[in-house]
Amino acid sequence: MAESIASTLGAEPQRRSANGSEQLEVVAEKASLRVVIENPGRLTAQMKLWDSRGLAHHCDGRVFLSPEADAGHPCGCPPGMTERRARARHGQGPQPVTTLLFRLAGCPGLGSFRFRSSSWRFAETVEGIRTQLASVSAPALCDLAIRTVEFTAQNGRQVSYHKPVVKVLGPWAPSTAMALAA
Ligand SMILES: [Zn+2]
Repeated sequence: MAESIASTLGAEPQRRSANGSEQLEVVAEKASLRVVIENPGRLTAQMKLWDSRGLAHHCDGRVFLSPEADAGHPCGCPPGMTERRARARHGQGPQPVTTLLFRLAGCPGLGSFRFRSSSWRFAETVEGIRTQLASVSAPALCDLAIRTVEFTAQNGRQVSYHKPVVKVLGPWAPSTAMALAA
């Protein structure tokens, strides 16, 4: 599997020992992957706040997702991302945990992979991406990329950050897979 992924991404699999077991790691020097996203449900936005006792607040920004007794009840998070972010910065509110399940367009038979991000900027785009995925109404061919954003702040300081982006290209079809394999 590592070799298939590596040949698709143009990289070499490396053996790594992590947590006492040997694992294979494929590091691709790429800022973008062509992926297949089956449906909008594959992209989920949750928010979590951990404290010394464990998971203290687990919601989707509107209602609790856990514990079971609270699930579905309003969680008290503010509706706007700016306010949520301010609360999280002071340790008073949860941070985003955005999860995307995808297949690699170059080798879809390998199964699903998971991309997880705590980026606020990525979390802000989730609803828009889900709407685009829904409008395709079939598995969608997409680019999953890390984009570098650079700008000069008002105080003249150079600011640079990375943000994940998902660009929906259109419906994925077997003919697309053949074109990619060719
Ligand atoms: Zn909440």
